[in-house]
Amino acid sequence: MSAFRPPKRWVLATDLDGTFLEGSRADRLRFYDWIENQRDRLILVFVTGRRWSRIEPLFDPRGSSAESDVPVPRPDFAIGDVGTTVFDGYGQPVEEIQKEIAARWNGANARVQNLLAGEPGLSTQRGELAYRVSYDYDPKLLRPAAIARLQAAGFDVIMSADRYLDVLPRGVSKGPTLQKLAKLQNWPGDRIVTAGDSLNDLSLLAAGYRAITMGNSEPKLLTVLGDRPTVYRSPYPGIWGIVDGLRHWQLGDPF
Ligand SMILES: [Mg+2]
Repeated sequence: MSAFRPPKRWVLATDLDGTFLEGSRADRLRFYDWIENQRDRLILVFVTGRRWSRIEPLFDPRGSSAESDVPVPRPDFAIGDVGTTVFDGYGQPVEEIQKEIAARWNGANARVQNLLAGEPGLSTQRGELAYRVSYDYDPKLLRPAAIARLQAAGFDVIMSADRYLDVLPRGVSKGPTLQKLAKLQNWPGDRIVTAGDSLNDLSLLAAGYRAITMGNSEPKLLTVLGDRPTVYRSPYPGIWGIVDGLRHWQLGDPF
């Protein structure tokens, strides 16, 4: 009698905006349906700049939230807030990782705001965030000295889309948090595929796993990434880019 061998599982760790959420309604329905049909062999991880309260409405089965006319599959894990939070699919923090990030941030919100007080070209994004401070910025007005001051004070700064500025605990971003989660969950690196489209995905796409960039990627992201054997540059945007990349990496053929 042959032993039961569970099918090998693989991990799709994908950005949301411009990536997993981008596509026509009909094709998103088809793609999400394919994803759901793969769930016994696929581990789905969202890796996003969004906070949990802006992730959860996407799963509404009626697809009735203002920005999601199609319900999005509930992931196994969600890394939110540009890598500073990590949850299971129901919004429960993964404490082993979350505690370490919280300790590294050490309640620095007010300290960051003081460091940037009076700086031109910054407007605070709405909402209190736990382990980061995020701004909208004006690239014509923001002074490089402001960034240097943050870095000297021990923070990491990620700017993306010529609009978003995230101040993060040093060493914490999308890629490192996915690496911590992979270690905790014992996911082999060669079973992980990442997907993203903007500069805040850089550490995710450069983490050494197989990666897919979208046809609608921020040009600066592609420049900084350069040519790497682990990165496949799809010419297609959003979900079509993911589909194309999954074919490229021989992980499935959704369409
Ligand atoms: Mg994106």
